[in-house]
Amino acid sequence: MTTLLIADHDGHAISPATARAATAARALTGTVEVVLLGGAHSLAAAAAKLSGVDRVLRIDAPGDLSVEAAAMLLKALAEKRGADAIVAAATSASKDLLPRLAALLDVMLVADVVAIESEGVFTRPLYAGNALERLRSRDPIKVLTIRATAFEAAAETQAPAPVEEVSWTDWERVAPVPARRLVSRDVTVHERPDLGSARVVVSGGRALGSAKRFDDVLTPLADALGAAIGATRAAVDAGYAPNDLQVGQTGKIVAPDLYIAVGVSGAIQHLAGMKDSRVIVAINTDPEAPIFAVADYGLVDDAFTAVPELTRALAES
Ligand code: FAD
Repeated sequence: MTTLLIADHDGHAISPATARAATAARALTGTVEVVLLGGAHSLAAAAAKLSGVDRVLRIDAPGDLSVEAAAMLLKALAEKRGADAIVAAATSASKDLLPRLAALLDVMLVADVVAIESEGVFTRPLYAGNALERLRSRDPIKVLTIRATAFEAAAETQAPAPVEEVSWTDWERVAPVPARRLVSRDVTVHERPDLGSARVVVSGGRALGSAKRFDDVLTPLADALGAAIGATRAAVDAGYAPNDLQVGQTGKIVAPDLYIAVGVSGAIQHLAGMKDSRVIVAINTDPEAPIFAVADYGLVDDAFTAVPELTRALAES
């Protein structure tokens, strides 16, 4: 059995989610080959150090490769390598790419896998995480996106896997120029830890009232804790925070060691993105707020006084 693990990267570094997806790929028996579409050569060395990886296939793809062309290319690669499974962490990029790839291969996409029982039996959440589905896929090639928070990151190994450069001389034939062309990529650079992999997340909701107050209340606390900042959809829709900070069913799925929810009601769509956090702290003026049902520690208090007090106490400790 051969599993292709599509690495998620920004051209300079492999995302932490890929190390977690490597653990999932390893749960399928056989050979695990990491596929690197473009990016710096150093990425191949980093991928090769992931424990459980048997080979890295580096494809010298252009940086402006469209998702349609990438899907065609990966289909050809899957056929060439005789892949039985194709796995990627569930990121925005893979949510764009893998459904296309599954369609080209004429198989079902199994999305958001949280457990792998065997080569064909997987568990995935449904209804915003309120139910778990255990399914058996009989497709000849399993195409899976992995919910990274459900798997531990693969450790670094001292014996790196070999790296193979895959050259596509017949590039145009494999991935003909599609109707859509990537013109530019606008990447938001955050100075704080990445929301998807941070150990601590401080999240704010509609209660913060404005972008300035969101920032004034949450940033000092996040700085004191070395935390990433998250937001509810209501806070994002109101313009208090950019939408790549949204946590929840239609945002990022996070599972940090500590999640502090400030002025967040705890709607099921928000819980779907954070309820697997190890320790949840909620600060809310309403003692009946649903967030308290999932919180390990709850503080019924006004965010505008409680959070600065907490930040001061942390600075003094
Ligand atoms: P509210 O529900 O308005 O809650 C504000 C909370 O702040 C209240 O509990 C209130 O008691 C408290 N509060 C008020 N003043 C203070 C104060 N001074 N100090 C402390 N607490 C205070 N939401 C997401 O977050 N992520 C998603 O991915 C997402 N996806 C969705 C997808 C769909 C299809 C739909 C329909 C909805 C989705 N939502 C999502 C929206 C979700 O249903 C809620 O509307 C949203 O999460 C509410 O955000 P909130 O908790 O900030 O606001």
